[in-house]
Amino acid sequence: MKLASIQFKTQRLAAVVVDGGYVPLQAQNLSEFLRDEQWRNLARQAVVSGSSNFIAANEATILNPIPTPTKVICCGLNYSDHILEMGRELPEYPTLFAKFADTLTDPNAQIFSENSESVDWEAELAVVVGSTLCQATEKDALEAIAGYTVANDISMRDWQRRTLQWFQGKAFDGTTPLGPYLVTPDELDPVAGVEVICRINGEEVQRGNTRTLVFAAASLLSYISSFTTLRAGDVVLTGTPGGVGMGMTPPRFLRSGDVLSTEIPGIGELVNTFTLRVSADA
Ligand code: ZN
Repeated sequence: MKLASIQFKTQRLAAVVVDGGYVPLQAQNLSEFLRDEQWRNLARQAVVSGSSNFIAANEATILNPIPTPTKVICCGLNYSDHILEMGRELPEYPTLFAKFADTLTDPNAQIFSENSESVDWEAELAVVVGSTLCQATEKDALEAIAGYTVANDISMRDWQRRTLQWFQGKAFDGTTPLGPYLVTPDELDPVAGVEVICRINGEEVQRGNTRTLVFAAASLLSYISSFTTLRAGDVVLTGTPGGVGMGMTPPRFLRSGDVLSTEIPGIGELVNTFTLRVSADA
C-alpha cells in the first residue's frame, strides 16, 4: 500500500494512493493517521469503501507525508562505499544525529540555503515507525515499520564542519525534502535491495543499493530504541551512498537554480529546486 499526505482545495488530508488518485483518510496527514493504532485496518477499509470520496491525482498536491514526527534520527556513514570515500573505517556502531520536524519539507519544495555556500546532497531511504518501540529486538523493530519513503539529507558542509558535532549543518529549517509516498513493507524490501539515486539537473551523482547498508532499517530501529523510545510516525534516515559533493575532487556543491532529484524506484521521486541566499555580512 502507498500512503500520502495531500492538499485538496483548502483541506490537508492523509490518503491512500490508488490508481489515478487518492482515497482520503480521517486525518489531516500521516503523522496524525499513524498515531491511531488501528491505522493499518483503517487504510484497508478506506480503500474498500472509499471510492465515493475519490480525489483525482491532478486535483491534489503532494505534501511532506510526515510533517510532525516526535523524533527524526539520522544515521551517517552507513553505506560501505560512502564510508570509504569519506576516508573512514567500517563502524562498529551507527553514527547518529538528530533533526527537527522543522528541518523537513515537501517533496517538491524549493530549498533555500541561508549563509552556506557548501550545500551538499545526500539521497537516503527513510524508515517511518508504525508503533512504539522501546528496547526492541530487531524482529520486533521489523514488524513495527510502517513503511519507507525518500529523503534528501541536504547538508551545509561548512556549518557541519565548524565543530565535531555535525548537528548544525544538518538541521537548517526546510532543507530535508521527504516523500512523495510512504510505501508499506509488503511492497518494498530494502534488505533485498532498492536503488537510491540522486541527480543534479538530470546528471546522476549518486546510485547505491540498500542491500549494502551496514546497519539495515530494523537494526537501526532496534539500536535507537535501546536508548530512546520511538513512536508511530517517527522518522529514521538510513544514510547516503557514495557520490556526495564533498567527496569529489575538487568538491562540488549546489548552485542557485540547480534541480535536485532524489529517487527510489518503487517509492517515487523528490524534485527540489535550490536557491542560494548568502547575505553580504555572512
Ligand atoms: Zn545523511
